[in-house]
Amino acid sequence: RSSKPQPETIAAIATAAGSGGIGIVRVSGSASQSIAKAILGDCPAPRHAAYLGFKDVNGELIDRGIAIYYAAPNSYTGEDVLELQAHGGPALMQLLLARCLELGARQAEPGEFTRRAYLNEKLDLAQAEAVADVINASTIEAARSAMRSLSGDFSKLVHQLLDQLINLRMYVEACLDFPEEEIDFITQGSVAEKLSRIATELRAISHQAQQGNLLREGMQVVLVGQPNVGKSSLTNALAGEEIAIVTPIAGTTRDTVKSLIQIKGVPLHIIDTAGLRETEDEVEKFGIARTWQALEKANIALLLVDAANGIGEHEKLVIARLPQELSKIWVHNKIDLNFQPEHSDDAELNKARIETKQGDTHIYLSAKTGEGLVLLREELLKRAGWQSTGEGVFMARSRHLNALAEVKRHLDIAKDQLSQPELLAEELRLAQESLGTITGEFTPDDLLGEIFSRFCIGK
Ligand code: GDP
Ligand code: ZN
Repeated sequence: RSSKPQPETIAAIATAAGSGGIGIVRVSGSASQSIAKAILGDCPAPRHAAYLGFKDVNGELIDRGIAIYYAAPNSYTGEDVLELQAHGGPALMQLLLARCLELGARQAEPGEFTRRAYLNEKLDLAQAEAVADVINASTIEAARSAMRSLSGDFSKLVHQLLDQLINLRMYVEACLDFPEEEIDFITQGSVAEKLSRIATELRAISHQAQQGNLLREGMQVVLVGQPNVGKSSLTNALAGEEIAIVTPIAGTTRDTVKSLIQIKGVPLHIIDTAGLRETEDEVEKFGIARTWQALEKANIALLLVDAANGIGEHEKLVIARLPQELSKIWVHNKIDLNFQPEHSDDAELNKARIETKQGDTHIYLSAKTGEGLVLLREELLKRAGWQSTGEGVFMARSRHLNALAEVKRHLDIAKDQLSQPELLAEELRLAQESLGTITGEFTPDDLLGEIFSRFCIGK
């Protein structure tokens, strides 16, 4: 992968923006050593922490801190790397970065360190993507699953499957060289059986990947209901102690109608449609337009009603405006108040319950007392397709799911081509190629650009 000319030396602030106890400027490339000498007076021994003064062009002290030098190929990027750990003030960090740029480095692009790690075969593509997913994980389970992908759990399964596909392909292609006997080879040989074994493993990997993807993407849940029906209370009750870790993304801070919570580690983006009323206020109009946009991406709508009142005209009007394909759950709230269950032998025991009526799901609960909340949590996870304890789940992106679906498609076609070895061989080749895009064996440059540009700078 790395037959290109010597890349430029890059530098970036690796720690988060703002001030912190420690800030790190990272340099990667062949100039790392000379930059170390210029700033530190001498280049520290590889992989040894050295406490030194960091000096500017006039020999004046910028800061005193820890410097670590890594000689290629034993570094994150596989190149010579210098890490300067200083006090984490933004001005100081800028000064230190400027010093590195002055000494011949250029500012790193987003994800460029990891991109180089990938190009130098320190990581495969699925692992490189997992670096960003570890950093951006919104729940602990998501972070753990991303860590499993970064450690290579996902890649290992992909490689095992690739090996089997390659073996089968070689077998089929060898048969092509003996035209008279080829059909016999294919039918008598265990090609069909091998194909079905590969398909079974592919199914297992796809299932795992879907679970991991859910931890990454979460569910978009819309809350619909009249004022005072308990939308905010339900959000808080569902969240409980489990508030997700929200990373502020530019432009979302004004989005007061959205909150991020989690159920068993699955992120839930909750959109409160309370803001969906008629208005003349420009700012509010903008917010409403955004809420409608969010609605279009939603997976599930929670339709809240007061259990004592049931479903009325207002609710019918609102659901008529919701996208048809949206999965819906009726939530009858406030069962702790004067609400009489319709058909129940022991009313007190059966207030909190889940029912299916005319294909719709109805859950009776109380956001205030928490009664019946567990039913809603379970139903939400079920609708999302979560069938796991989270144990052993590795993180996967939509890109990976699409590739796995592509592999399945080619294997399905292959299965029907057992009597036509040329076509069979071709489908196996295509299946192998699709599978290889996950770990980056077959990956076009523009895709790489897209993947790494979404990283933060300094990673
Ligand atoms: P929203 O306008 O739909 O967001 O409704 P809120 O969550 O602000 O709740 C409106 C009022 O109903 C508040 O006074 C809540 O304390 C109360 N409330 C919400 N859920 C329940 C419930 O399950 N039982 C009872 N008794 N009161 C509730
Ligand atoms: Zn509210």
